[in-house]
Amino acid sequence: MKPAPFAYAKARTLKDAVSLLRKSKDARVLAGGQSLIATLNMRLSSPTLLVDINGIKGLDRIAKKGKKFEIGALARHAQVERSDLIAKHVPLIALAIPHIAHPAIRNRGTVGGSIAYADPAAELPACLLALGGEIDITGPKGKRTVKAEAFFKGLFETALRGHDVLTAVRVPVAEKNSRFGFAELARRHGDYAMVGLAASARADGKGLKDVRLAFFGVGGTPLRARKAEAALTGGAIDAKRIEAAVKALDLDPPDDVHSSGKVKKHLAGVLLKRVAQQLMEPR
Ligand SMILES: Cc1cc2nc3c(=O)[nH]c(=O)nc-3n(C[C@H](O)[C@H](O)[C@H](O)COP(=O)(O)OP(=O)(O)OC[C@H]3O[C@@H](n4cnc5c(N)ncnc54)[C@H](O)[C@@H]3O)c2cc1C
Repeated sequence: MKPAPFAYAKARTLKDAVSLLRKSKDARVLAGGQSLIATLNMRLSSPTLLVDINGIKGLDRIAKKGKKFEIGALARHAQVERSDLIAKHVPLIALAIPHIAHPAIRNRGTVGGSIAYADPAAELPACLLALGGEIDITGPKGKRTVKAEAFFKGLFETALRGHDVLTAVRVPVAEKNSRFGFAELARRHGDYAMVGLAASARADGKGLKDVRLAFFGVGGTPLRARKAEAALTGGAIDAKRIEAAVKALDLDPPDDVHSSGKVKKHLAGVLLKRVAQQLMEPR
């Protein structure tokens, strides 16, 4: 199918992008276009104006800033995948990125687009939640920062308002005792996950502390399983503790096109067992 007619404008600066977005009631940011163009072609959305942000200089930066690591909204998935800095300082994202779609899509798709689009089965929103990250936004009233916990509000619904541009995400830099785990089940590699899990923790003797388990594909947004996190915290991670965490899994996935909620809950338990082992491995 062909999209409904729309106007196109290329922004040269962030200020330019925000003022262009304000010109139309139903304007939309165009980043990598890997999700947006498909929804236009299928006429699932019909914005009147696309504001292309690809010409804004510096929006693709990847940089360590003290104890935080910043990834610009226009950083492509492929750029993140190849980055030695990401591998060293944000290993969870390095683990997750190869699971996103296929190389051609990763060449164009952006980190900001993935977070803004907020597909409930996407990898990066869950990583951001597992890492306790934050999101920088610029809108008509200036800049603001929103924590990942408050950013994902519902199915494809975020804290972004109509004239906002997501400019960057920030996550804590990995430390010596940081531990990470990532696993997902998809019908084919590169498909959106049926169920996935991004996790972070800190080594604490033979056990773990500050455990954050962010599941995706199990609800309208990525979700933390706080009872399972508590069950994994404290003593040594042995088979008994992992089994207790699986039993404590506080998820209630709805049925979807992939499977019933019951099957998804079972798969979430399978992933939790795998990821719990990963969390115990020194980096
Ligand atoms: C076949 C296929 C398979 C895929 N598989 C996966 C997968 O397994 N996992 C996964 O995570 N993704 C997957 N994707 C999606 C891909 O990762 C997209 O790149 C991503 O979701 C959107 O990024 P984009 O830069 O292409 O955004 P666009 O398509 O340009 O935009 C998507 C939406 O976000 C908004 N937006 C984009 N950037 C900003 C910004 N900076 N500020 C404000 N709003 C913004 C747009 O207005 C639009 O509404 C797949 C896509 C395809 C086509």
